[in-house]
Amino acid sequence: MSDKTVRTIGMNTSYDCQQSCVFCSESDANALLRGHFLPLKDAVRILLTKRELGADRLMLGGGGEPTLHPDFVKILQAAKRLGLKTWVVSNGQRFAEPSFAAQTLPLLDELVLSLHGDTAKLHESQTRRRGSFLKIVEAFRHAAELPSVNRTALAVVSRLNWERVEQIVRFGLERCRAQQVCLSNLAPEGRAQQAYKDLAVPLAAWRERLPALKSLARSLGGSLATQFVPLCCSGGALDFDLPPFHCIYMIKIDGKPAVADETVLHDDRKRVKAPLCGDCRKNGACAGVYERYLEIFGASELALMR
Ligand code: SF4
Repeated sequence: MSDKTVRTIGMNTSYDCQQSCVFCSESDANALLRGHFLPLKDAVRILLTKRELGADRLMLGGGGEPTLHPDFVKILQAAKRLGLKTWVVSNGQRFAEPSFAAQTLPLLDELVLSLHGDTAKLHESQTRRRGSFLKIVEAFRHAAELPSVNRTALAVVSRLNWERVEQIVRFGLERCRAQQVCLSNLAPEGRAQQAYKDLAVPLAAWRERLPALKSLARSLGGSLATQFVPLCCSGGALDFDLPPFHCIYMIKIDGKPAVADETVLHDDRKRVKAPLCGDCRKNGACAGVYERYLEIFGASELALMR
């Protein structure tokens, strides 16, 4: 695939966050780069270059919380001037501020906000930030006032919130008025790596519950997506895998922050195929299973699709 056919720009602009989520997959990179932001001049230069190459969408997310970038609004404005669609993945805390929401939401096409529980107790047990639940609900309220913004509620699913996953889907679609709920399978990375064995939801449980959750979402007028769930366990829910993208992020070289630019064809998150996948008719379309999951739990829960 050439650079000219990659249409999404993914920018990790910030390495700070107001929350300290128990499952944060970015905690290692954020610890290394905390306090650094992708410089505005680099962000604009890269947007221009990639736009000329044919990119038509900017995704701000990954790394830390993008809304903490001091030039968040300017980056969005530059993207819109260049005719890019904009997609922001956020913990939503700043969108609860009326003035911030009024300034930024008209610049967005898609907004993905984290919702890890349907009660303050559950959500905040994940984010470890008191008051974060009221703010995420308020952020959704502000976003729902703009019909032009497509809204997704993103729940990272672990054993900590699995028992209430139905209530989370309902809360996201009914109370928060998201159009879609995405259930993201906990990744064995960053802070979640150590406790992964205790936190991972068995794939058999995903396979059992997802068809009913998908029907529930449809009955409420919305849709259900999954992320990082193998196809044989996803119950036919929409897959939220990223398309190939230009990945712009910061690294440290000789102790100094620098800007990196690479093309990611597939956001594989260390997913692999089990030996039995070779006989599966979905082998080509499926991204497989976390390697760590297979190491700990084996492949017996996969259901070969013939
Ligand atoms: S390729 Fe493997 S993991 Fe994917 S659907 Fe088929 S059996 Fe499941």
